[in-house]
Amino acid sequence: MFRYVMLCLLFLGISCQQPKKAEEPRPNILLIFTDDHAKNAMSLYHDELIVTPNLDRIGLEGITFNRAYVTNSICAPSRAVILTGKYSHLNGLRDNRDVFDGTQWTFPKVLLENDYETALIGKWHLKSLPTGFTHYDILIGQGDYYNPRMIRNGDTLDHVGYTTDLITDFSLEYLQNRDDSKPFCLMYQHKAPHRNWMPNTKDLDLFSDDLPLPATFYDDYSNRSAAASEQDMRISDMYLSTDMKLLPGSYRTETGTGGNKNFQSRDFTRLHNKLTDEQRKAWDAHYDPINQFFKEANLKGDELLEWKYQRYMKDYLRCVHAVDENVGRLLAYLETEGLLDNTLVVYSSDQGFYLGEHGWYDKRFMYEESFSTPMVMRYPTLIKPGTVSNDLVMNIDLPSTFLDVAGVSIPANLQGKSLKPLFASNDLEWRDAIYYHYYEYPHGWHNVKKHEGVRTDRYKLIHFYDDIDAWELFDLEKDPNELKSVYEDPEYGSIKKNLEQKLEQLKKELKVPKR
Ligand code: CA
Repeated sequence: MFRYVMLCLLFLGISCQQPKKAEEPRPNILLIFTDDHAKNAMSLYHDELIVTPNLDRIGLEGITFNRAYVTNSICAPSRAVILTGKYSHLNGLRDNRDVFDGTQWTFPKVLLENDYETALIGKWHLKSLPTGFTHYDILIGQGDYYNPRMIRNGDTLDHVGYTTDLITDFSLEYLQNRDDSKPFCLMYQHKAPHRNWMPNTKDLDLFSDDLPLPATFYDDYSNRSAAASEQDMRISDMYLSTDMKLLPGSYRTETGTGGNKNFQSRDFTRLHNKLTDEQRKAWDAHYDPINQFFKEANLKGDELLEWKYQRYMKDYLRCVHAVDENVGRLLAYLETEGLLDNTLVVYSSDQGFYLGEHGWYDKRFMYEESFSTPMVMRYPTLIKPGTVSNDLVMNIDLPSTFLDVAGVSIPANLQGKSLKPLFASNDLEWRDAIYYHYYEYPHGWHNVKKHEGVRTDRYKLIHFYDDIDAWELFDLEKDPNELKSVYEDPEYGSIKKNLEQKLEQLKKELKVPKR
């Protein structure tokens, strides 16, 4: 009998035991990254300028962060922050002049140690060569829009084609040839839509109608510090040559500073000559009649300014269109290969950009257009379609998020936070303020003074320093376009004091060196 019971128990025990659950496959990570892409040029955020169905899809089928910001609104520093999870003052890359120290901790190195394949394809812009990647294929410096020279795992190669297409081609080649026994982390990074906005020849006829002027286009910079008026990033000052892409015979004299009074105006001839015969023929077929009109019209004042705006915006949006189309190619590949739903797909830019707001192009300021950045993510295992977050998140949160989703522990000294908890809940205790710091002054471009500041749900406090000591305070609920600083307004006295305290507290927490 005993033996019979034991046998039954053994049988029941075996039969009740669940088959060992196969381990969930670790997700792939795809960071789709652009350069200088304003939220206002992504239809999920703003649908008056362009339709971007493929970029929007990531947010619609996942999460849209409506309040994503950067810690330092300029190209190389933003990239260093995303690699290291540390602010510029700790990762050593404060402005575009600094060289990235590739010996320091980065999230791709940790993923590599945890048996991920890691790849970086496209724009890098950190001066030193990439470290921590199984495979890299990078543009040299800013790279060119056409026929780029790139460095693939140490070998310099020249390519023919449109760079946005090529970066996608090379990313698809990488995905096809990777070691598929491991999850991948691919940083797929476009040059576009960075200056000087050269569209693909096939897209030159898009956006033929004139675009609306933003409400603040004719901003006179009153009611703010001198920092707002003393910048050199007005559309009126864009180069007729490189920015407007006029050849020497098409204009009389260069009128623009281009953002750097000490810099000799760059002739568009070099880039025009670099096109292949076929590319140049298509390019000239579109631009020659427009350039001829420009030469004959002899535009001045606001007419010239608005002509520059239209030319700038149309080329910018055409470059964004090419990104969107290529992101569609990559998503379609992942879908066809059955990889899409097991990949955390992230789209973001290194920061926002001015599309004529305040009369500007470029970035750098802590004002909303350049401080903010698009950020959407798709990963159906953890994110329900149509999720929207209004929490204050930053580019510095990306490495913590990647490690968290990959199941890798997050080092305590990273200064961002994993966004994973926000995927599932809107009611979390989240941070109530974010810190910003811009350094590239007086060297570099666009004459934007050094500044730091704090943003909360409703307010923003900015301190411009170095050769100026000026504060601005904006009530973003009453003044979303940031046209009137209320720093001196006694009604905001207690709010100002609280923000100043918050700024000091964040600087202490984030180990910002004393000046
Ligand atoms: Ca940038």
